[in-house]
Amino acid sequence: MAGRWVRAGTWVLLSVLSLSAAAKDKQPSAIVVGAGVAGLSAAYELQAKGWQVTVLEAKAVAGGRNGLATSEWIGNSKAQPVLNHYVDSFKLKTLPAPEFVRTPSYLIGGQFFSSSDLKDKQPATAEALARFEKSLDDLAASIDDPANPAANNTLFALDQITVAKWLDKLQLPETARLLVNQRIRSRYDEPSRLSLLYLAQQSRVYRGVDDRDLRAARLPGGSAVLAEAFVKQLKTLKTNAKVTSVSQDKDGVTVKAGAVGYSADYVVLAVPLKALGQIQLTPALDAKHLAAMKSTNYGWRDQILLKFKQPVWDSKARLSGEIFSDKGLGMLWIEPAMKGGANVVINLSGDNARILQAFGDRQMADQVLIRLHQYYPKARGAYSGYEIRRYSTDPSTGGAYLAFGPGQVTRNWRLWEQPLQRVAFAGEHTDTLYPGTLEGALRSGQRAAKQVEDLYAGKTIDVPGTLVAKKTAPAGAAEKGDKPGFFSKLFD
Ligand SMILES: Cc1cc2nc3c(=O)[nH]c(=O)nc-3n(C[C@H](O)[C@H](O)[C@H](O)COP(=O)(O)OP(=O)(O)OC[C@H]3O[C@@H](n4cnc5c(N)ncnc54)[C@H](O)[C@@H]3O)c2cc1C
Repeated sequence: MAGRWVRAGTWVLLSVLSLSAAAKDKQPSAIVVGAGVAGLSAAYELQAKGWQVTVLEAKAVAGGRNGLATSEWIGNSKAQPVLNHYVDSFKLKTLPAPEFVRTPSYLIGGQFFSSSDLKDKQPATAEALARFEKSLDDLAASIDDPANPAANNTLFALDQITVAKWLDKLQLPETARLLVNQRIRSRYDEPSRLSLLYLAQQSRVYRGVDDRDLRAARLPGGSAVLAEAFVKQLKTLKTNAKVTSVSQDKDGVTVKAGAVGYSADYVVLAVPLKALGQIQLTPALDAKHLAAMKSTNYGWRDQILLKFKQPVWDSKARLSGEIFSDKGLGMLWIEPAMKGGANVVINLSGDNARILQAFGDRQMADQVLIRLHQYYPKARGAYSGYEIRRYSTDPSTGGAYLAFGPGQVTRNWRLWEQPLQRVAFAGEHTDTLYPGTLEGALRSGQRAAKQVEDLYAGKTIDVPGTLVAKKTAPAGAAEKGDKPGFFSKLFD
């Protein structure tokens, strides 16, 4: 492939370093494609080990899926150890989260309820939510190892069921169901699109981690600040460098971005699956990878920042933290005032976000303002503008983050953790335990860097892939360790 490019003569081939990995006395080299936090952590770790690293980023700035929030909620080191490791090593300033934002709360019919308010004022809804929590926890507890969630036949069968089907069986009262739907679509995707095994596995990962640990601090400046800290450490980062092809042979890799070619010993592809599909790979991916690349479900989540000249909520109102509404407004929170105003970030998720794709930005902001105005009658008068970030239709993302659909956990388990010769993969979607988060993205970068080092050292990497049911017993049949009747009810 490299030869063909040179013959074409229309662009320059820059040799990052010798292609010969066998020449161990030379500095090893890697190209990292994508400067989200996954690519940045991979590059940082490799550079720290003495590698020559070139990061290529399609956009004008590094950072990837930085949200509209100007201040990110982050967990403590118990909940997000890798994120906290980098926050500490880069000496980034964090602020402790106020107590009242550390647990989820609710907006029902325009009225705000903390979890404890709900118990007092809407006991039926609170009880139904507790029943949902308990059922989900039972599912989570049935998974011994979240790194191998389909360890038995029954768990394997959970992957064939949608979360919506399971919720139907719980028969929650209407308000509770709306709030649960909202919680699931905000964190993952629409319940009707989500694998129950994925929800159970994720709940198992966070089992025993308190909400208060997950929402322990704010990172002023958001994840962009973390990305900037990485960038300051990196020697070679090229922005506006959209990679269009990657080819590898026994000697090395060649990566093309615009009119420029780069060569190195290894490449880390740290781009979301939709973006990966736009890169020509030589040799091509096999059918399994291609199918996973095209069909893996991503959650939909768009962010709308509504700006107000002054706060439109009364000073005692709590519009901050993880607030689930029964009216499809998604999660809301107040952002620190900008230019003397006050802003609300609204996260529209799941099918609420999909439906609004038909609207232009202005119409979308109007639709959200109309709904907010019903609760806060000063909203229209104080409204001064909006910003919108649509992740789901951004061709470099194609969704907000991984949210495995039915059948996809077992089919694609750890697929992208396995390097393909000189190509390693990183990105939140490649992390086994914490997909869809900064923690997962950072972990994946560390893992990919280690894999590249191991490959260079001549080690073989063999990631256990597709999950298979251990037995051929019918779905729902009792197995050792099952609670009698616990699973079978799910498969009626
Ligand atoms: C609305 C929203 C809110 C979120 N909130 C939180 C939160 O509160 N806490 C949390 O932990 N996580 C949150 N996340 C998730 C978190 O932001 C992501 O998991 C993380 O940023 C993903 O990082 P990444 O490096 O895997 O991918 P990305 O950030 O998407 O990075 C990929 C990079 O590759 C680049 N790229 C794509 N194609 C090419 C190409 N051909 N050539 C070169 N470069 C290319 C892209 O431009 C991008 O910069 C949120 C995500 C969204 C969408």
